[in-house]
Amino acid sequence: MREVIRKRLEVRGTVQGVGFRPFVYRLATSLSLAGYVLNESGGVTIEIEGAEIAITSFVRRLRSEAPPLASIETLDVHDLASCGEREFAIHHSVADESKFAMVPPDIATCDECGVDYHDPANRRYLYPFTNCTNCGPRYTIIQDIPYDRPKTTMSVFPMCSQCQAEYDDPGNRRFHAQPNACPVCGPSLVLSAAAGGPAAGVSPGSTLAQVRQLLKSGKIVAIKGLGGFHLACDAENDAAVRLLRGRKRRSDKAFALMIRDLAVVEQFAIVTGADKAALTNPRRPIVLMPRREGTTISDAVAPGNRNIGVMLPYTPLHDLLFEDGIRALVMTSGNLSEEPIVSRNEDAGKLAGLADHFLLHNRDIQTRVDDSVVRCFEDRPRMIRRSRGYAPEPIELGHDAAEVLATGGELKNTFCLTKGAYAILSQHIGDLENLETLEFFEETLGHMKRFFRVEPRAVAYDLHPGYLSTKFALKMDLPKIGVQHHHAHIASCMAENHVREKVLGVAFDGTGYGTDGKIWGGEFLLADYKNFDRIAHFKYVPMAGGDAAVREPWRIALGYLREAFGSTLPDLPMLARVDEKKIRFVQTATEKRINTVDTSSCGRLFDAVSAICDVRLEANYEGQAAIELENRAAAGIDDAYALELEAGEIDTRPLIRAIAGDLLRGAEVALISAKFHNAVARVIVEVARSAGLKRVALSGGTFQNFYLLTRSVALLRQAGFEVLLHSTVPANDGGLSLGQAVIAGEKLK
Ligand code: ZN
Ligand code: ZN
Ligand code: FE
Repeated sequence: MREVIRKRLEVRGTVQGVGFRPFVYRLATSLSLAGYVLNESGGVTIEIEGAEIAITSFVRRLRSEAPPLASIETLDVHDLASCGEREFAIHHSVADESKFAMVPPDIATCDECGVDYHDPANRRYLYPFTNCTNCGPRYTIIQDIPYDRPKTTMSVFPMCSQCQAEYDDPGNRRFHAQPNACPVCGPSLVLSAAAGGPAAGVSPGSTLAQVRQLLKSGKIVAIKGLGGFHLACDAENDAAVRLLRGRKRRSDKAFALMIRDLAVVEQFAIVTGADKAALTNPRRPIVLMPRREGTTISDAVAPGNRNIGVMLPYTPLHDLLFEDGIRALVMTSGNLSEEPIVSRNEDAGKLAGLADHFLLHNRDIQTRVDDSVVRCFEDRPRMIRRSRGYAPEPIELGHDAAEVLATGGELKNTFCLTKGAYAILSQHIGDLENLETLEFFEETLGHMKRFFRVEPRAVAYDLHPGYLSTKFALKMDLPKIGVQHHHAHIASCMAENHVREKVLGVAFDGTGYGTDGKIWGGEFLLADYKNFDRIAHFKYVPMAGGDAAVREPWRIALGYLREAFGSTLPDLPMLARVDEKKIRFVQTATEKRINTVDTSSCGRLFDAVSAICDVRLEANYEGQAAIELENRAAAGIDDAYALELEAGEIDTRPLIRAIAGDLLRGAEVALISAKFHNAVARVIVEVARSAGLKRVALSGGTFQNFYLLTRSVALLRQAGFEVLLHSTVPANDGGLSLGQAVIAGEKLK
């Protein structure tokens, strides 16, 4: 008789909530192996007993045939004594406080579920909450780990006998699908004219038909989705989009679109292979792509912007909105300006002034998440906002780190917890400028500390004394580690690239507090996790007016012009468009240094050039002046203005004089913009040559400028440098907390 052996397998990685246990069950039974599989807080434990050859095959196929959404990080195998077990079983979950479990992100509807709810003969026909082991809500409904139905917001919906049978059948696609539901037992929709008040119960099919009619007639509907509310309207109805824009008081910032399918996306945008892969990925981010000219999409979707942000439907509810001829919907976050996304039915009233109708459902959203945003560069999606579908998936650090909390920056805040060899970034929290956003921060921190069983030993924070994230950290009863903003940007880029040796970090952004109390943002740092040496930066320029200057780039332009020309300013058309009294006021303020700060910010330089070229004198969203300047840049220009590097300072005065000269000679803005971008790219290479390191890391929000990014990367590679870029976390301040965390981890050693 053949010898029977028994082994224990400890599997770590994304193995919960992705159909891993039924897969193990099927694999084990097909190989006539006995034993059990069990979800634990730390991952999945398997014991198998049987013939050695079958066990060897099991271990191999566990990796090679794992379900599409699973990813095995580690697999440890131990020998046990056989105990004569005959059957294979799925055991109930046990919680182990000390271990690390992956909390799966939310996953877009799979094709098989799509077939189910489109089939009139299926019991889930038109059911908007259809899901299975391979798809559906996860992070947004999980209340605690291990991930099991009683610990989700689905616990209040007892399964009907048919759903329960699917849930219990290891051969079924819905075996242990925690959010499993059907029209008989699961969540349902309610459409109401005013927020909060429930309407008479109708079947989901007819409710959705009503919603489609409302959207087609130009109404704005607040729709509760997966991670919160959207405000939706027909993107091909110009009046509706303008109405929404007016109500949201978001004068020019682009609205995201949800589009029926890939074929329609291609009518509206120029879609690359990488874009297609990103659009159809189960994470379903918003993908930024160049828009086509002259389409039926309302211009009010993204005024002054060459790009549009598009996502495909990612829940059955969304998918079912696109019948009856609707092809493209504006789907912008349902929030009051600057506040976090609304997610609870009780709070829907906040959107009363924005929406005409409300489509609610009764499945609670435990954790709010906004849509994620990516843009593809060199065939890879680059994160701009990391949220739904990605958070809270851990980022592998490649080394063990102490448990720390990093509270991030102010704008586009995320925070970061570390545990073991992982960094866990929160979803996009938003601009930490008000109480509501701070509450969202604290609420999410509470969830994540519990889910991942993290008790931070120290807290890392930005040096800016005014940031709410900094104030929050300073109030904690933990050792505190202040991290310079641009050092954090560079460490963040290093961390996601698993590079620990010293690099030349190029950190270009709008604002970051410097160690000298000035506002930095055009920085060249020789950096590793531990330290940095600021080897070069843009020469300081006085900026009068603080925050007002950020909203009014013409003020910044005055600062740069004054540096370049002294008190006799050139006769530029843009100056004629600003009130003379205001100009005198800013000049006096600058001279007397009233409310004036020195800044080396690269973002401000872009603002200044944009205003000097009369592209944008006043901005109504962050980065607008720079974005519009980039959009104007002509392609195929290699000429560049001169930026002078001397003793570690980059002098912008000759550049400003040359631009003013070109403008006075009537040169095209397209050409000036290209020559300006090229100048910044060239100076990066010049500093890199003087630094003497092979690796250059590019970070900071300015590198979301694709013209600059493309040029800089090309020139650096031509000159023989290895370039590190972001993709897993944003180059903007959304990635800051990761850098803070790895720096703090290093300092704690
Ligand atoms: Zn499915
Ligand atoms: Zn059911
Ligand atoms: Fe920054």
